Amino acid sequence: MNMDSTPRNLFSNKQVTHTPDSSASMIDIRKVIKIFKNAAGEFTVLKGIDLSIERGQFVSIVGKSGSGKSTLLNMITGIDHPTSGHVIVNGTDLYTAMDESGRSLWRGKNLGIVFQFFQLLPMLSLLENVMLPMDYADMYDFDERPKRAMELLALVGLEKQASKLPLAVSTGQQQLAAIARALATNPPLLVADEPTGNLDSRSTDYIIQLFEKLVAEGKTVVMVTHDPSLTARTTRNIIISDGELVDETVAIALPLLKHRQMLAVTQKARRVHFAPGAAILNREQHVDSFFMISSGEVEIVLDGKNREDVTVARLMPGQYFGEVELLREGKSIASVRAAAEGPVELLVLDRVDFHNLLRESPLTEESIGRIVQHRLTENKSIARHSKRIWPFS
Ligand code: ADP
Ligand code: MG
Repeated sequence: MNMDSTPRNLFSNKQVTHTPDSSASMIDIRKVIKIFKNAAGEFTVLKGIDLSIERGQFVSIVGKSGSGKSTLLNMITGIDHPTSGHVIVNGTDLYTAMDESGRSLWRGKNLGIVFQFFQLLPMLSLLENVMLPMDYADMYDFDERPKRAMELLALVGLEKQASKLPLAVSTGQQQLAAIARALATNPPLLVADEPTGNLDSRSTDYIIQLFEKLVAEGKTVVMVTHDPSLTARTTRNIIISDGELVDETVAIALPLLKHRQMLAVTQKARRVHFAPGAAILNREQHVDSFFMISSGEVEIVLDGKNREDVTVARLMPGQYFGEVELLREGKSIASVRAAAEGPVELLVLDRVDFHNLLRESPLTEESIGRIVQHRLTENKSIARHSKRIWPFS
């Protein structure tokens, strides 16, 4: 296999993917609950999941073993069904609009699935394995199928292995063939459950590059992974902890927390909204909360009598403020306002919860402590440079 060849564009000028409503999300999961029942009783694996994934995103889903990752993917693929809630994929409500056989046919045309253990049919060649979904979905002319399957094998660097049986090639190559098979019907969505869990780092890297290439061509890729190094390469990372999703702002703002601690913050934080330009905190105001920016931008302004306003910082989603005052038990050292360009959503954590959090996570305490030092130094220096007497030293 040629690991270095860049996958070619196979999807331009080809059959246009059917998109019932191209403006809507690729995946919309609403209030999904999944309860497994067995002799021992009931076990709630998904505890009310809400999640939207836009078209063209490359999303990783991470979580401890048993947290519900595969169960969540099986809701998206229609392999399993929720106990309650809705799953809308590519404009179709999977569980109200279709029965089991309808779902199965829909799946063949709308999504490609890649598993950790490839699941190629051992008695068929790689080429025949890739042609199988085309037969099943009855897509493409019979005569066209081998050519198209060969193009897909070339895309993943396997054209020379096309006639081999799965066991005659390496595990990395088997997974690449499984990806080619998943792309057989040119679905807009690729769903992969730990696709690199069984592979060496070179094969893993090649597969992630392939996914990146597919995303660049407009496909949506959702990948469950155990490997934290892969999440840096996706455009969005979803964390599931014990059947619930961690707020993505919390995960970005406080990355050193354990997943269950992130979930606790998610559950305790309040959401507040500000109009563009609105005041969030005034200088000298008593600060009793920790603020994480969920959307929009925030300006930190040094203002006061006899001085012009100096904007010392502009904070983006995932950044936070309020920690300086909470840790120094002080009043606000600056005023904070929503930037003029758009509305702001904040996640707000009360003082008590913030202090508990730092107690439970020394790493987070240390990292926030460093930011406090940095911000105080920066503010003093800005105040000095603006040649004004700065009263907070
Ligand atoms: P993950 O993929 O994150 O490791 P899973 O979604 O496979 O987790 O499983 C989440 C939990 O649900 C586990 O505790 C698992 O034992 C349980 N579970 C999964 N499938 C079933 C099933 N068919 N019947 C009963 N329990 C199940
Ligand atoms: Mg799993």
